[in-house]
Amino acid sequence: MDDMNDKNAAVGSQLKPETHLVVAGRDPSAQHGFVNTPIYRGSTVLYPTAEDFLKRNRRYTYGTRGTPTIDSLETAWSELSGAAGAVVVPSGLAAITIALLSCLQAGDHLLVTDSVYRPTRNFCDNVLKRFGVTTTYYDPLIGAGIGDLMQPNTRAVFTESPGSQSFEIQDVPAIAEAAHKRDAVVLVDNTWATPLFFPPHARGADIAIEAGTKYLGGHSDLLMGLVTANERCWKALRDTFDNFAMCTGPEDAFLALRGLRTLGVRLQHHQTSALQVARWLQQRPEVLRVMHPALETDPGHALWKRDFSGATGLFSVVLNPVPETAAHAFINALKLFGIGASWGGFESLLIPFDCSDYRTATPWNPGGPTVRIHIGHEDVGDLIADLEQGFAALARAA
Ligand SMILES: *Cc1c(COP(=O)(O)O)cnc(C)c1O
Repeated sequence: MDDMNDKNAAVGSQLKPETHLVVAGRDPSAQHGFVNTPIYRGSTVLYPTAEDFLKRNRRYTYGTRGTPTIDSLETAWSELSGAAGAVVVPSGLAAITIALLSCLQAGDHLLVTDSVYRPTRNFCDNVLKRFGVTTTYYDPLIGAGIGDLMQPNTRAVFTESPGSQSFEIQDVPAIAEAAHKRDAVVLVDNTWATPLFFPPHARGADIAIEAGTKYLGGHSDLLMGLVTANERCWKALRDTFDNFAMCTGPEDAFLALRGLRTLGVRLQHHQTSALQVARWLQQRPEVLRVMHPALETDPGHALWKRDFSGATGLFSVVLNPVPETAAHAFINALKLFGIGASWGGFESLLIPFDCSDYRTATPWNPGGPTVRIHIGHEDVGDLIADLEQGFAALARAA
C-alpha cells in the first residue's frame, strides 16, 4: 500500500470521510497500475526457503489470515472508522458474535439494550448463557443511568443506535463514560448509520459492528460483517478472529470494496429521499407517528443532531389503529415496496413488525400497527404514489 499510503500521509487527518471512501485501501502501484485491488484466491502461500517457512516472515502467511483483497477492505474500513484495526466476517450476525466473544469469558455479566437486533438477543440468551455469561437487558434511553445496572462482574455494554426497528437514539457517549469508569468494554452495532454518519470510536465505543450486508454492499446481493476496535480491544479482536478463522471469500470482499467507493453518494440519496417520504407520511391521516430521528418531532432528535452527521434510509411508522387485515391490505397493495428482511439495497422495502414479541426490559405500546420502511433509489414521487394507493386499499379493508 506504499504509494497510496504516502499520498494519504501527505494530507493526513485532514481527509474527509468521503475522500477516505475513494482512496482508502487502494495501491495501484502494487497491482500493475490497475485502480482496484483484484480478487486474490488462495489458501497456500509459498515461502522461498525452509528458514523463511519456519519464521513465517511473509506479509501473507495463509489464506485464512488475509489476502491483498481482504487487506484492502480491512484497511479502508479501519481508516474510515477511526479504528486501530478491522476484521471482515461472512455476515453481520457473525460480526456481532465474534465481537462479543473477543471481550467476554465465563463468569462475566453483559448489559444489552432492549432495542437490540433480535438475533443478537438469541445469541446472548442461548450461546453466551451456555458458556457462563449472563445478560441483562436495559432501557435503550438509560444514558448515564447504565452505571446503576453495573455489577462487579459486568464486563461489557452492548448498544445499538438507533434500534433497527424501534429507532430509539441512545446516548452512547454517556453510556460509554459510565461504563469506562467501571472498566467495561463498550460495543455499538452501527449498521444503521455506518461510520460515515456516526464515527463509533470518537463517540466512545471500544468495538463497533456493521452489517456490510446493508449499506456497504448496497445491492441486496452480499452477506458480510465488519468489526473494528480501538487500541484497547484490537489485539483481542484479531486473536479471536484468527482462532475462529471466520474468514470471508475474496469475491465478497471485492464486491464490498466496490460498494465502498459509492457509499457516500448512495447514503446521501437514501437520506434525502427517506426524509421526504417520512415528512409526507407525517401529515397523512392514516399515520399516528413516524419514528425517524432526523424529524424535529422525534424524541431522539436532539441526541441525533449532537452525535450523527446524517440519517440513512430506514425508519418506522405507527399507523392509527385499524384491524390487522386492513394493515396487511395496505402492505399487500404496494407495488414498489418489497416485503422482506434486511435492507440497505437500492430497492424499497416495507415490513410489519411487533417488538412486544421479544422485549423484556421495556414495554412496547406504540398505539397502532407498526411497519418498518427502507427507502431505496426509486423516484420519490413514484414511491409516494404507491403508498397513496396502498392507503386507499387500507381504507377499503378497514
Ligand atoms: C441486518 C442486521 C444485522 C445482521 O446482518 P446479517 O448480515 O444479515 O447477518 C446486524 N445488526 C443489525 C442492526 C442489522 O440490521
